[in-house]
Amino acid sequence: MSTFRIKPNRPDTEKLKVDDMNPFDRQERIGWWNQDKLREAKVLVIGAGAIGNETLKNLAMLGIGNILLCDMDTISVSNLSRTVLFRKADAGKKKAETAAQRVKEMCLEESSRVDFFDGDIVWELGTGVYRYFDIVLGCLDNIETRFAVNKNCQLVAKPFIDAGISELACSVSVFGINEGACYQCFADKEQMNSARKRYSCDNFKKRMFGERRMSTVQISSAIVSALQVQEAVKIITGKRAAISKKLFFQGTVNDFDIFDLQREEDCLAHASYDSIIETPLTNAVKLRRFLNFVSQEDKSGKGAALDLRGDRDFLRSIKCATCGKQTFFYKPVFRLFGDEVICSNCKKQDGERFVIGEYDYIPDFDMNCEDTLLDLTLEQLGIPKLHIVTVRDTAGGYKHYELSGDVKNVMPNISNQ
Ligand SMILES: [Zn+2]
Ligand SMILES: [Zn+2]
Repeated sequence: MSTFRIKPNRPDTEKLKVDDMNPFDRQERIGWWNQDKLREAKVLVIGAGAIGNETLKNLAMLGIGNILLCDMDTISVSNLSRTVLFRKADAGKKKAETAAQRVKEMCLEESSRVDFFDGDIVWELGTGVYRYFDIVLGCLDNIETRFAVNKNCQLVAKPFIDAGISELACSVSVFGINEGACYQCFADKEQMNSARKRYSCDNFKKRMFGERRMSTVQISSAIVSALQVQEAVKIITGKRAAISKKLFFQGTVNDFDIFDLQREEDCLAHASYDSIIETPLTNAVKLRRFLNFVSQEDKSGKGAALDLRGDRDFLRSIKCATCGKQTFFYKPVFRLFGDEVICSNCKKQDGERFVIGEYDYIPDFDMNCEDTLLDLTLEQLGIPKLHIVTVRDTAGGYKHYELSGDVKNVMPNISNQ
């Protein structure tokens, strides 16, 4: 084992008086530290499980000023050995709301604001949400959500730091903006399949699917989260971070490796919005009102169409191949379970029977749509709060509109400043 000396990078100690009333006194003694930047920083934390708990605790103690944390799960007793923010009495409560309360209590920065999102991150967390943050921290245990978070970070050009654990091994991958690799660049076929396991082959949700229980332990999440937040601090304060690198630690043998992540030029996740138009609208407006708004002369003009292609599928109806009966759904596909997509006629005749037939999806919506559609809210069309939606004009041009009226609904505390 070698010993080495580190030359301390000391700030001018004359200027720094000892201030034991300042919780950040010791970290501010690091020469390049910038507590103001941490106070102003906006950090989006995806996942409030094993890694998320450690990461949130770290952010609170560092004095990060704005945190939005997201999770859709409920706290179970088996989580408690890995979740520093939760107590036995929290079993059965929602992870996001409970974590937000605890993080707020822990925040040493008095002006810190904490908000939470309790819902399906893949489908119900609008792309615009990502735009309001400086950095996105992935604290996830599944590939589908990592793909979705990565895609949104690419769309609005935000750095994404993904953390993962397995037994005593852990890794942190740092993805920058506009250049270098993204999470999907090196996705293999197995990961692509794994990202689809919540869905049947025709994209409807499965009621039950085999969710893998990770073999892991809190000490691994503590290590990985420290590395993840350390890279985040570097990015926030303008220090050189490990962009396009994967930091890998194998705790069984204490082997630490750094890998280069190569950008794959034909990766499908690299699309990004060139410009985004903010609107006062929320996803509670009806389609009719939305189309009226974007059809104004100075926007997309008359005949503008909301185009959901490449984002999400909306199902109008299915015509049964057996009996010919058309069943109407008027629902986004991600909200339909496979066992709901059944011909009511055939079901009566011979029990549980899945429809095989003509699927009528609606890729775009304009003023010529039937009233049933025009009277649906954007929420009913499957568009989440603060989402960025694409509108096609009659000349074939595209514009991207953000439902910015939702900012205060998604982050009441962070937006209140
Ligand atoms: Zn990529
Ligand atoms: Zn039928």
